[in-house]
Amino acid sequence: MSLPYPTRQLYYDGKPQPASSGKTFQTTDPSNAAPLADVQLASTADVDKAIASAERAFPSWSQTPPIVRARILQKAASLLREKNDEIAKAETRDTGKAYTETSTVDVITGADVLEYYANYVGSGGLNGETTHLREDAWVYTKKAPLGVCAGIGAWNYPVQIALWKSAPCLAAGNTMVYKPSEFTPLHGQTLAEIYTEAGLPPGVFNVVNGAGEVGAYLTSHLSIAKVSFTGQVSTGKKVAGTAAGHMKYVTMELGGKSPLVILPDADVDSAVDGAMMANFFSTGQVCTNGTRVFIPKSMQAAFEKRLVEKISYVRAGPVFDEKTNFGPLVSKVHYDKVTSYIKHGIEVDRARLLCGGLEKPKLPQDLQQGFWVQPTVFTDCTDNMRIVREEIFGPVMSILTYDTIEEAVKRANATELGLAAGVFTKDINLAHKIIDQLEAGITWINSWGESPAEMAVGGWKQSGVGVENGHKGIEAWVRNKSTLVDMSGAVATVFAKL
Ligand code: NDP
Repeated sequence: MSLPYPTRQLYYDGKPQPASSGKTFQTTDPSNAAPLADVQLASTADVDKAIASAERAFPSWSQTPPIVRARILQKAASLLREKNDEIAKAETRDTGKAYTETSTVDVITGADVLEYYANYVGSGGLNGETTHLREDAWVYTKKAPLGVCAGIGAWNYPVQIALWKSAPCLAAGNTMVYKPSEFTPLHGQTLAEIYTEAGLPPGVFNVVNGAGEVGAYLTSHLSIAKVSFTGQVSTGKKVAGTAAGHMKYVTMELGGKSPLVILPDADVDSAVDGAMMANFFSTGQVCTNGTRVFIPKSMQAAFEKRLVEKISYVRAGPVFDEKTNFGPLVSKVHYDKVTSYIKHGIEVDRARLLCGGLEKPKLPQDLQQGFWVQPTVFTDCTDNMRIVREEIFGPVMSILTYDTIEEAVKRANATELGLAAGVFTKDINLAHKIIDQLEAGITWINSWGESPAEMAVGGWKQSGVGVENGHKGIEAWVRNKSTLVDMSGAVATVFAKL
């Protein structure tokens, strides 16, 4: 049977390469569970070859002047924009996310980061510092690339994650071996081909396909200087543990269970819009989701009434239909996980189900086999419920009511995770005070979810180590060298003759 997309290969030495394992796996369309493409599985020998390719490319790429690197990456950013619709279509088929979303967010926000870092290094952003110590001595610093780095991606924003990792990595003069999630691998080869078309030398960006074992092998490989990982906390701990054993650099972008605190003076309509974006965008498969929605008791009835009205604006349907703004979950495994949480919420936590639940949304016949769930809201939740404590990573909102703001902040912080947080209020002074008290690395005031290239994002507590994007993001891809220069002509020594 011919599949909608050609077989995906590995990519190193500047071209697609057949895997030596002789094994393939399939990626499927989550909207109807139909296979999309065969993907060749990398053996350890293939990963070795990809790493060797990146090692060969490193000396020349790291010595390439930043302005020249910048030109190539800028070209890649413009190719990504030219091919936006084609890439977005593949992302929609692979992830199940509505095309209205992938065509306006996923590729664009990836290309933005590439352009941002190209411009940054091209304009001297990675220059070091010079410190005048005394008349005849100074110190200068250099930001040197790390070497061959590994990028390991999650399935929720495939091409965006690949770009958020490769853009600063390559701009800083490193080379990369990238492993996409086995659930959404279509973009890997496409991105590598775009980089090559833009003029990136062979071996600077390489792709290996496979599941966790391939990621684990990459992480433990002695030639890998750094691992940039996006995924679950539990996997991140394993990856960071292995990396630490070899003293590798890491960036860890992990999960969350983020609080959205609505203050008593907030506009109910805006708060509902914010809470919906924080829970149902990308069918809830966003790491920064604000799944714990704290609302004042006095606002509960009005908030829930407006929420139920607005839930009708969440439109599941054919993923390429321009009215559809809500796709299926990414895979059967993930569907089983999310629905088991919804079941647990109903049967064990016994939260009040305001809307949604286990029934699939109403869909045309050809989508019946897909991994669809309804946007689901539980209310009258308590802090100890499992649906309130654990990351579900699906469209499941928990409403928690509070009496005092102080209490809401305390309860919002009572989690081991600290990825994101947000406040809705008309009192901007109070907003800053509350944000300052919330223990999270990514925060919003009267907004939720926007993550531009300029904004450094990363989690606190168990939600991660380091940040991506912004000026701070690229610092994680370089190491410092400090040089003291003495021009006095005399070496200060304690070993002078008495
Ligand atoms: P996983 O942790 O399951 O997987 C992430 C990646 O790691 C995949 O490529 C996976 O391969 C790979 N992997 C699995 N096991 C290992 C291992 N032992 N060593 C190295 N790599 C391994 O995460 P999900 O893909 O399920 O992604 C969802 C999670 O990602 C959520 O928790 C979400 O919050 C988080 N996330 C965080 C973001 C952030 O910026 N903080 C952004 C986006 C998502 P494979 O998939 O092939 O098994």
